[in-house]
Amino acid sequence: MIVRQAVASSRSALGTYDGVRDHVPGGATLSQAAVSERAQARGLHTLHAVKRELLQQRATWWGGGEFHCPLCSVDFAEAQRAAEHVVRAQHPVLRMD
Ligand SMILES: [Zn+2]
Repeated sequence: MIVRQAVASSRSALGTYDGVRDHVPGGATLSQAAVSERAQARGLHTLHAVKRELLQQRATWWGGGEFHCPLCSVDFAEAQRAAEHVVRAQHPVLRMD
């Protein structure tokens, strides 16, 4: 029962969040988002390039010890933390080591 309530409330919270995000003045969509300087230093200047790089990293991604989100410009020292960000923010976090 408690679990069901939690799921229901998180669903409504997500719905509210989506509504807010859709109405951010001048808010960029994910495809238009700027890539961080750190990602650009690796030659990844567009989100498309980042996603392509991520696909190539997929097989060895979990073995990494340094990760970076090109959309938030945030670094992660553990694959677990990086993976949580991928799931929560739906961002393409890159392995950097
Ligand atoms: Zn991010």
